[in-house]
Amino acid sequence: MKFTPILLAAALSLAGSLGTDSAMAQGSKPGVERLYIFNCGEGRAGDISRWSPGVNEGKSMDFVDSCYLIKHAQGWLLWDTGVADAIAAMPDGQRPADPRATHWRRPKTLAAQLEQLGLKPSDIKYVAVSHTHPDHIGNVTLFPQSMLLVQKAEYDWPSPLGPRFKPEQPATKLDGDHDVFGDGSVTLIATPGHTPGHQCLLVKLPKTGAVLLSGDAVHFKDNWEHRRVPALNVDKDKTTASMQRMAEVMAKEKAQLWINHDKAQRDGQKLSPEFYE
Ligand SMILES: [Zn+2]
Repeated sequence: MKFTPILLAAALSLAGSLGTDSAMAQGSKPGVERLYIFNCGEGRAGDISRWSPGVNEGKSMDFVDSCYLIKHAQGWLLWDTGVADAIAAMPDGQRPADPRATHWRRPKTLAAQLEQLGLKPSDIKYVAVSHTHPDHIGNVTLFPQSMLLVQKAEYDWPSPLGPRFKPEQPATKLDGDHDVFGDGSVTLIATPGHTPGHQCLLVKLPKTGAVLLSGDAVHFKDNWEHRRVPALNVDKDKTTASMQRMAEVMAKEKAQLWINHDKAQRDGQKLSPEFYE
């Protein structure tokens, strides 16, 4: 059976609206089905006092870089894209200009991890990014057809790193919290401070329960517990307020906090192709 493009578009749009309306009318469960964690980089930070001025000076630590893929009845959403896949081909990884920063390696590419699940980049409906540092947007260009979900303040930020998105990349520029699928199951939470338009992602999984994905609102558990603000953050007061907001969201939703770069935490988590429901 063949569809003309117009009929197909109409059918898809009808299916989309029926999906949302009927889910709401019947009060059925939100449509998040599962969440995969990808290895989107492994690194060693030269001096972790970059993330806690005056504390842990000269101490180095292993970091991880995580990406999260969410399967929702209305489509796939990728949260953060990690360091660039090109780093996988560099024998010694990517050494930072500042030795106190993180020396990244890429044991597996993002593309290969999608492929392992039988997915192509064009299968991803949304790419949502916590912020626009290179270890989070390193592979956005792999997804030229996906809708980017980013805070307007982040998109418009005249970052010292220069332009981060191609103008032709479809983008929804957000102003605050955003319920991605309209059923409350996947919500972007505005948490400015690390960068002007930083955001976290709240995911309500059917069995695991609510999980708040940190982005870089915090980098590891000890800094979260002490509410430490990294020296490189653009706004200290907003960072502190955002951490307070996260704590309130977590209390209200009984959510776990999954910290993107925290190796100790991620060592205890299931990585793709295993998943959380
Ligand atoms: Zn980061």
